[in-house]
Amino acid sequence: MKIKVLERDENFLRFLVSGIDVSLANSLRRIMMTEVPSMAIDTVIMIENSSPMKDEVLAHRLGFIPLRTDLDSYVLPESCACNSELGCSKCRVTLTLESEAQEGMRTVYSKELSSIDPEIVSVSEKIPVVKLAQGQKIRLEAYAKLGLGLDHVKWQPTSCCTHKYAADIQVDLEKCTLCKKCVDACLKQVFAVDEQVNVVDLESCNLCKECEKVCPVDAVRVDMIKDAFIFNVESTGALPPERIFLESIRILKAKTDELTGFVTQIKAGEVE
Ligand SMILES: [Zn+2]
Repeated sequence: MKIKVLERDENFLRFLVSGIDVSLANSLRRIMMTEVPSMAIDTVIMIENSSPMKDEVLAHRLGFIPLRTDLDSYVLPESCACNSELGCSKCRVTLTLESEAQEGMRTVYSKELSSIDPEIVSVSEKIPVVKLAQGQKIRLEAYAKLGLGLDHVKWQPTSCCTHKYAADIQVDLEKCTLCKKCVDACLKQVFAVDEQVNVVDLESCNLCKECEKVCPVDAVRVDMIKDAFIFNVESTGALPPERIFLESIRILKAKTDELTGFVTQIKAGEVE
């Protein structure tokens, strides 16, 4: 297996993986979306709410504010040693919000959520929570915990996670008449022309094969590579995208280890 990073910034990672089959690529994609834990508000105690937004709607909005996640300091509540429904400092974070519109109308933003753990805060300070008219007030206490996208989309650490087959493009330069039709037909700007047609951005090819169809002399051939995939992983900001990918591999390995252990037990006659 080979991995090549194509593009990377704080919340986005694009990489090419060669030497894996589609089932493994799809397993990793699904685990990244639904089984890598992230933090989200799950319980809200409303002390005062004179805003026009109902308690339930406000609580729902708070749940969808992506929170920075620290997977090394927190555990999923179901695997926490505290065994408590209320949670402990290893499986729960308390956040408070106290806002009042003293002079005219104002918007309450996510930066006003104050957390007892400075590492577990909103990924952005500018997420609007609610609008308050003069004199209106909200006071609440919220509890965030780790969870899985499998249970609720608010715990999904990725806002976008896709993979596609990598492409192989061959241009027969002896046949090519430099008509440039393939260059104009490609919406992804895969080709460029100087003295000849060159493939300048192979990774952007989405295998639409328009270049193949418009070539009057059959000089272009596009094929998908069956064991190479380009992944796009966009994080909500909860975790760095490379951490999401690494966690997905760790989770898949844990699943296969469990299965292997089970098969070994069957072979040993310990399980019928
Ligand atoms: Zn706990």
